[in-house]
Amino acid sequence: MEVSDELELMPTFSIALSGCDLRCDFCITGAESWNARAGRGFAADAMAARAEAAMQKGARTIMVLGGEPTIHLPAALELVSLLPQSAKLVWKTNAHGSAQARELLDGMFNVWLADFKFGNDDCAQRLAKVSDYIRVTQENLLWADAHTELIVRHLLMPGHGECCWRPVATWLAENLPGVKVNLRTGFWPAWHARRHNELQKAITVAENDAACKLAHQLRLNLIA
Ligand code: SF4
Repeated sequence: MEVSDELELMPTFSIALSGCDLRCDFCITGAESWNARAGRGFAADAMAARAEAAMQKGARTIMVLGGEPTIHLPAALELVSLLPQSAKLVWKTNAHGSAQARELLDGMFNVWLADFKFGNDDCAQRLAKVSDYIRVTQENLLWADAHTELIVRHLLMPGHGECCWRPVATWLAENLPGVKVNLRTGFWPAWHARRHNELQKAITVAENDAACKLAHQLRLNLIA
């Protein structure tokens, strides 16, 4: 049972699927998240039985995550079809799936726990090798807010307070007022972070304070 996610979702029974469509150099699970064949296959019915047992022992939610779970969409949907109606299901995503994928996910999950990582396409391209990031992510966040409960996560990165957090926070305030936002300040220079000078350290106290101050100025609905 996982106990490190948003307080309101805990305790959660989490099912982590390997593989991801992004290539974030700071990924803390890079080895598994970059390799869609890592780990073991699972039988949907057996996994659903384990999830149900976890619910009976007190799990409040069942969370499907990655990597990026969208790349295993058929398996994820099969699993959901076997879970009890009463289960509160969380889809933890990098919010960069396709329009077709989100249509297939419509009505399947109670909560979308979605990242908004980068505030501009240049940082997204340089740090995660992904193009057209802003348009796709914003479109998905607006869709998720309209179709389900949405929690947005942003991992504050050292040296990216102005280029990434500020535009993310401003857009959220203007386009998704009141949406729950988890500003995560525990950046750790993992995986290939050393390839980027600014990512070779943790967040400073000054960066943390400035990011929180901006969130309060914009009246973001911060959650822990
Ligand atoms: S989106 Fe998440 S799982 Fe995928 S590479 Fe980036 S940090 Fe890793």
